[in-house]
Amino acid sequence: MDIKDVRHTIRLYALQNAIQFNGKANSKAVVGKAIAIFSKDGFSPRDLIPIVSDIVDEVNCLSIDSQKKELEMKAPELLKREKKERDFSLPELPEAQKGKVVTRFPPEPNGYLHIGHAKAALIDFEYSRKYDGKFILRFDDTNPENARLEFYDAQKEDLLWLGIQWDEEYRTSDNIEKHYKLAEQLINQGEAYVCTCSPENIKECRFTGRECKCRDCDRGDSMDLWNEMVSSSIDGAVLRLKGDMYCDNTAMRDPTLFRIIDKEHPLKGKKYRVWPTYDFAGAVEDSLSGVTHPFRTKEYELRDECYFKLLDFLKLRKPHLMEFARLSIEGMPVSKRKIKPLIEKNIVSGYDDVRLPTLRGLRKRGIQPEAIKQFVLSQGISKVESTVPFSIVESFNRKLLDPKVKRFFFVENPIKLIVENAPEKKKKIQFHPHDETLGSRVVNTNKVFYVPREDMNILKLGDIFRLKDLFNVKITQKNETIYGEYIGEKLISETAKIQWTTDEYIPMKIFVPSPLFIGEKFNPDSLRILEGYAEGAISALNTNEIVQFERFGFVRLENTAAEITGYFAHK
Ligand code: ATP
Ligand code: MG
Repeated sequence: MDIKDVRHTIRLYALQNAIQFNGKANSKAVVGKAIAIFSKDGFSPRDLIPIVSDIVDEVNCLSIDSQKKELEMKAPELLKREKKERDFSLPELPEAQKGKVVTRFPPEPNGYLHIGHAKAALIDFEYSRKYDGKFILRFDDTNPENARLEFYDAQKEDLLWLGIQWDEEYRTSDNIEKHYKLAEQLINQGEAYVCTCSPENIKECRFTGRECKCRDCDRGDSMDLWNEMVSSSIDGAVLRLKGDMYCDNTAMRDPTLFRIIDKEHPLKGKKYRVWPTYDFAGAVEDSLSGVTHPFRTKEYELRDECYFKLLDFLKLRKPHLMEFARLSIEGMPVSKRKIKPLIEKNIVSGYDDVRLPTLRGLRKRGIQPEAIKQFVLSQGISKVESTVPFSIVESFNRKLLDPKVKRFFFVENPIKLIVENAPEKKKKIQFHPHDETLGSRVVNTNKVFYVPREDMNILKLGDIFRLKDLFNVKITQKNETIYGEYIGEKLISETAKIQWTTDEYIPMKIFVPSPLFIGEKFNPDSLRILEGYAEGAISALNTNEIVQFERFGFVRLENTAAEITGYFAHK
């Protein structure tokens, strides 16, 4: 295949991609397409990447109207394949009535929320809004071993950041006395018993399907033992539901409803030592608080039988329990249980490490709450488990940021360029090529520039390149400093367009995250620090502002008195 044909085809796909993404094609996406099409003709990624990069630059200089016109003329069929806006509305709930739907999000205050919690919380919240119903935030703080005071507020802050507001808030630990009453009701009905077997014995009996001697204990004796549990005169006892020790569903083999945890609770102190398990508290709280449609992740599916049996015994209202798949992301630990040891062992810097899927980590790297929302709702409420790449989150974020953030030049690994006969200029450059309302800056140029070393490595003596948005330069000398000659300002097709700064640059460090794990293994290169020069105009920006460094990617800025640091979100 002729290189001209290759260029022609790549241009069509670059145009198509640009039109789909507000006039700006993404090199990576087009490279992917080019490799898929041309590798069979013997073109390697190494051949294709520079061609694509050139063409994408050219295409991105055009207005979206010109892009559409050109594609209409050359390949109208590609224009028709514009991505359809996806509909993220949630499917109807069974037996749901307007004004009557009550949902809840029940986090355990034992860590910071992550994107998996965002999925659960947003589905619960969105359903309550869809039906003009009520949304409850319930802290499931019934394990004093794990609950910590700081997490109640931190979780609320993170939910508010996501745009979630709750109509009611309470803590399960406020209802322990109510739980005790219900436990006594079960004991009196002969439907629960205190078991004093060792944990090993309980496990063994569950595994083999055998009843233990405690099960036969009469109600009065069980009640006495229960009172001893509560009043601290015995240890090593649990309250169990009389399920079915022979049931195929092992979750029904007399599940534990209460256990002794002699630890100080962050809100209740030492007031209680007997605490309900998730099986008990989850079911009872959903029912008592009026929740109509509680959601849980699919791994609890086997416990549903226990949920309903318990409510049956207690003669409590049964909600419409539903399940969806747990969210998993490639190379990221989407679970508090997996995140905690990474922090404790200093493998990551803290809960807001930019490599983590915590809402704080995502926020720090510039992921927008709206992107998280669109992403999790796009996953829907299916029960099919899958592990998705983080690039899906990135593409939602890119689509939101691309039209609204200012673009700046950033020169990675800079090398000095002196253009001897360069005219001094006061060049006005718009912050966004397609949106003049974002304003512009004036860059004063002289003969000194800084340009990316890697770009210069590819060019030879005598080659011509363009300082982007400025003028063309011919290379006259290549050493530790590059020398060049000013050769006019007219756009020359197919010349490389190079990012630059003047000598009024701002040195920057940018933290660039990549997946924490590759397969099961920790990725030692998961956080790189890149250094480079940003153009002086960024010093006028504030902490938290997100910019697009052209050809580099989206970066959230953090300013201190001494320096500006960046956190890379994605290309
Ligand atoms: P973790 O392993 O992160 O501690 P958890 O389920 O124990 O998870 P909770 O604070 O008890 O964490 O969870 C609150 C809610 O968030 C639950 O309804 C739970 O099912 C949901 N949730 C937690 N992790 C995910 C996930 N990865 N995907 C979807 N929902 C999740
Ligand atoms: Mg939990």
